[in-house]
Amino acid sequence: MNSPSPSPSPSPSQSPSPWDTTPAISVRIVSAISRIANVLRSGAWQFATAEGLNPTQVDILQILLSRDAGVRLSWIAQQLGVTAASASDSVASLVAKKLVEKGRASDDGRAIAIYLTAEGRLLAKKINSAMSFAFDAVNELPQTSQQAMFEALLAYIGKLQQSERFPEIRACVTCQHFAANKHKNELAPHHCNLVNAPLPHMLLRLDCEEHAPAEPATATLNWKKLEKMSL
Ligand code: SF4
Repeated sequence: MNSPSPSPSPSPSQSPSPWDTTPAISVRIVSAISRIANVLRSGAWQFATAEGLNPTQVDILQILLSRDAGVRLSWIAQQLGVTAASASDSVASLVAKKLVEKGRASDDGRAIAIYLTAEGRLLAKKINSAMSFAFDAVNELPQTSQQAMFEALLAYIGKLQQSERFPEIRACVTCQHFAANKHKNELAPHHCNLVNAPLPHMLLRLDCEEHAPAEPATATLNWKKLEKMSL
């Protein structure tokens, strides 16, 4: 693994700067993201404790909210970065609480998928309300900062995905319906072939129900095109 670049150090003729010990920007960025993740995690913990759930169970309810077609247990484990056994335990507990149920997968009648119950759906929506502090903080930033953050985070996710460090996501960039930079329009340069409409850069989705996985080589090419756009 490449180690982070150190902050610029003074030449022998320069006197030491009070900032010489400042960690490299890569270190500070990762530290910032990690701290934000901790704050969000702590918000989820508080909600989970109040509802008698554990954080993994809260995560499962959240990811099921946008998946009416249900998901496989192995997919849940992969998305949450937990073992299949741990995902299975959490799902079993949610089934016992009547928040999720098991049924036949819509795309394969022999496979089992996990679905939210009506009660689970209500609770999953409450989780989003409990995390409103995080959405509010973003909304209070200037529009240009929000856009810059979105672009930078998207590019960072792309880098992690290409090094196989980020779980599969149903994002436009990795979708076979996505055509990057098809239009000359700066505001809406992309195209979604599914709905046959220009797709603004700032409306790129990270989780789309209609997502159909693109070939890995196409997805990599898309990530590279987007990376160039954010330069
Ligand atoms: S189907 Fe969804 S994920 Fe695919 S390009 Fe269209 S909006 Fe994006």
